[in-house]
Amino acid sequence: MTARVIDGKAFAANVRAQVAAHVARLKEEQGLTPGLAVVLVGEDPASQVYVRNKGTQTAEAGMASFEHKLPADTSEADLLALVARLNADPKVHGILVQLPLPAHLNSELIINTIDPAKDVDGFHISNVGLLGTGQKSMVPCTPLGCLMMLRDHHGKLAGLSAVVVGRSNIVGKPMAQLLLGDSCTVTIAHSRTRDLAEVCRRADILVAAVGRPEMITGDMVKPGATVIDVGINRIERDGKARLVGDVHYESAAAVAGAITPVPGGVGPMTIACLLANTLTACCRANGLPEPEGLTA
Ligand code: NAP
Repeated sequence: MTARVIDGKAFAANVRAQVAAHVARLKEEQGLTPGLAVVLVGEDPASQVYVRNKGTQTAEAGMASFEHKLPADTSEADLLALVARLNADPKVHGILVQLPLPAHLNSELIINTIDPAKDVDGFHISNVGLLGTGQKSMVPCTPLGCLMMLRDHHGKLAGLSAVVVGRSNIVGKPMAQLLLGDSCTVTIAHSRTRDLAEVCRRADILVAAVGRPEMITGDMVKPGATVIDVGINRIERDGKARLVGDVHYESAAAVAGAITPVPGGVGPMTIACLLANTLTACCRANGLPEPEGLTA
């Protein structure tokens, strides 16, 4: 069997186009422009690239983009004051504080100071609780993107066996909650899981969010399963820098029914879902109907 490749790049372009069309209607009919504020503290090179891409794609979707670049030695009090200003600003519907923050800043405190209604990353403790109890929340962007692609591929997910490898707060746990919300039978695996290969082979849907290059190999995949590779790992092979996922693509694709590549799978969906969340937050803040198909 050769797996169908789930094209995250094309899927994300479609999500961005849907967002842009909705934003254009909001402007015309309501005189509203959704706004996203991104806060970057310090000069982490990967974070700088993410923030630049977020700004560009926000503007391309017709939204207002507010970038706040602060020096690495910014005090917690100053950062909290900025978050408070953004919370109070009616032009800002979404706030994202780029992680990781420098070590002297308390990330949990900062994130939990964001107004939950503007928490477009979905990391605020209120949104975590709302998602966990099946209530309307802001949903973390990466797992939301995975869910959208899975729904598109499978139609209904109810009754399918899903295994999520990884239990981080930003990917693994919310991914498991979303799959449970769609009535999958969910297993969360992690570094202490016994016989990981056997656990993975039970999965109709296998999500890898581990941060270990090519760890999930074809012998761990059930024939015909859908494999979602969240991993982004920079490695060197044959003297060249390469980007690989947490899944060994060639061996897994030979067994799976469908698979997301790296790059071009989950990655592009994350920013697309950030834009979707900002639009959703703007609609909710103004008591307007939410865009269909762009939330969990
Ligand atoms: P993380 O916080 O480091 O969590 C990794 C998880 O994998 C942990 O729960 C860990 O288990 C588990 N794990 C580690 N080694 C394992 C092993 N040998 N067997 C089974 N489980 C193991 O990572 P993360 O933030 O969730 O990110 C995961 C990957 O996704 C990374 O490659 C990251 O770059 C990528 N990512 C991509 C996007 C995107 O936009 N596509 C967004 C976010 C993250 P323990 O809890 O037991 O330690």
